[in-house]
Amino acid sequence: MEGHLDILEIICKKRDGVVLSRGEIDFLISRYTNHQIPDYQMASFLMAVYLNGLTSQELFYLTHAMLNSGKIFDLSSIAGPKIDKHSTGGVGDKVSLPLAPAVAALGVYVPMMSGRGLGHTGGTLDKLESIPGFKVRLSFDEFMGVLSKNHLAMIGQTEEVAPADKKMYALRDVTGTVESLPLIASSIMSKKLAEGMDGLVLDVKVGKGALMKTYPDARQLALTMIDIGKRAGKKVSAFITNMDEPIGRFIGNAAEVNESLQVLSGEKVPEIYELTCAIGAEMLLMAGVVDDFEIGKEKIAEVLADGRAYAKMNDCILEQGGHFGLSGEAFSHWRKNNLHTEVHCIYASKQGYVTSVNAYGIGMAGVAMGIGRMTQEEDVDPAAYIYLSKKTGAFVQLTEVLCIYAFSKDLSEERRQRVRYLLEKSYEIGDVAPPSKILIYEVIR
Ligand code: URA
Repeated sequence: MEGHLDILEIICKKRDGVVLSRGEIDFLISRYTNHQIPDYQMASFLMAVYLNGLTSQELFYLTHAMLNSGKIFDLSSIAGPKIDKHSTGGVGDKVSLPLAPAVAALGVYVPMMSGRGLGHTGGTLDKLESIPGFKVRLSFDEFMGVLSKNHLAMIGQTEEVAPADKKMYALRDVTGTVESLPLIASSIMSKKLAEGMDGLVLDVKVGKGALMKTYPDARQLALTMIDIGKRAGKKVSAFITNMDEPIGRFIGNAAEVNESLQVLSGEKVPEIYELTCAIGAEMLLMAGVVDDFEIGKEKIAEVLADGRAYAKMNDCILEQGGHFGLSGEAFSHWRKNNLHTEVHCIYASKQGYVTSVNAYGIGMAGVAMGIGRMTQEEDVDPAAYIYLSKKTGAFVQLTEVLCIYAFSKDLSEERRQRVRYLLEKSYEIGDVAPPSKILIYEVIR
C-alpha cells in the first residue's frame, strides 16, 4: 500500500480540498518523522492544511499518527492522579511556573511537558532554561525518578515523545502556519497523550496576542481538544481566557521566572495569581483532591501564602540540575544580574487612558529583542525583558514612561528600530477609560 503513495499527490490533494485517508496521513507523518520527506514539502502540506483545514476524522488520524510517531509514556507505576496543564500560548504567560509547584505541593503528580516559544508567543522551556543549570532534557527514567520523588517534573518534549510534532512545531514557527486550529489541536493533544497523563487542564487563549483571535474559534479549539482527549479516555477541561494584553508586567525569560517567584512568595500579582488559583483549582478537582472549585482555589492560595509552593519549586530546580536553589547569595546575584542589561524606555505621546496594550505587538517586539526566535537556529537572550509600567486602564501624562525594555544581545540598528516601533505601536491612548477587563471567560468541562 505504502509503496503506491506519493507525497506530492498528498500535498496536491490537500491543496485542492480533497479529504485524505488514514493511510495517506500515516504515510506522510511516518515518512516525515524518519527524515524521508524534506522540510519544504512538509511546509507546503502544512500551508495547505492552514488554508483548507481538516475534517474531524482527518484530525483524529493526524493526531494519532503524530502520537504514534514516538513512544507513549507509561506512568502507571506511579500511584495517584497525574494531571497536567497546557496553554495554547500567549505573551507574558508564565502561569505554569507558579501553578505546577502549587498543585504538586498538594499531592498531585504534575508531569509537565512544555514547549519553546512559538511565533510571537513565549515558551515555558525557554523560561526554565534561564535558570542556571536547569535541565529540561531528561531521559524517561530520570523523568520518572524526579516525578515520583518530587511530584513534579518540568521537561521539554524528549526525542521519543511525538517526534513528528517536535519537527512540525519548529517548522510551523518559521513558515507562517502556527495559527491553525487543526494543527494546534493535533500538536498539543499528540504530545499530551504521549506524556501519559490521566487528566489535562487546557488554557485556551483568545484575543490579540493569542493564536485564536476570536471567541468562536477559541471555543471550537477547546471543544476539539476536549473531544480528542475524551476519545482517548482522558479527563480534559478547558478555560478560555483573555490574551488581548500580556499577562502580568514582565515579558522575558529570566524576568518571567522572577515574576513567578513573586507569586510563589505569596504576592497576589494581578492576573498571574488569579489564573494560578483558578487553573490550579480545576487540576485539584480533576485529581479528586477537592470536590468544590472554590475550595480548590482556597487550597492553592494557602500553599502560595505559606511557602509550600515556593519550597516545591526550589526542590524542582535542584532535582533538575539547577546550580543553586531559591535562596542564598548565588540566587540573589542571578536575580540582580538579570536586570543589568541595556535599558530603554517608551514614553506616552499624549495624555489619556491606556485603552490597549497589544499583546501581539509586544510579543513581536520580544522576538526582535531575542526573547523569542526569528529563525529556528537562533538562541534566545535569557536576560532580555519588557516591563509594562502601564497596562490597560491606566491614566498617563504626556511623556510618562509606558514601558521599559532591555536586552543584552548586540542588536543591529534595524532591529532596534523595529523593537521601538512595535512597542510604540502596541500602546493606544484615548480620552475615555476602557471597560474593565474580563480575565477568565469560561470553563468548559
Ligand atoms: N502549543 C503547542 O504545543 N502546539 C501548538 O501548535 C500551539 C501551542
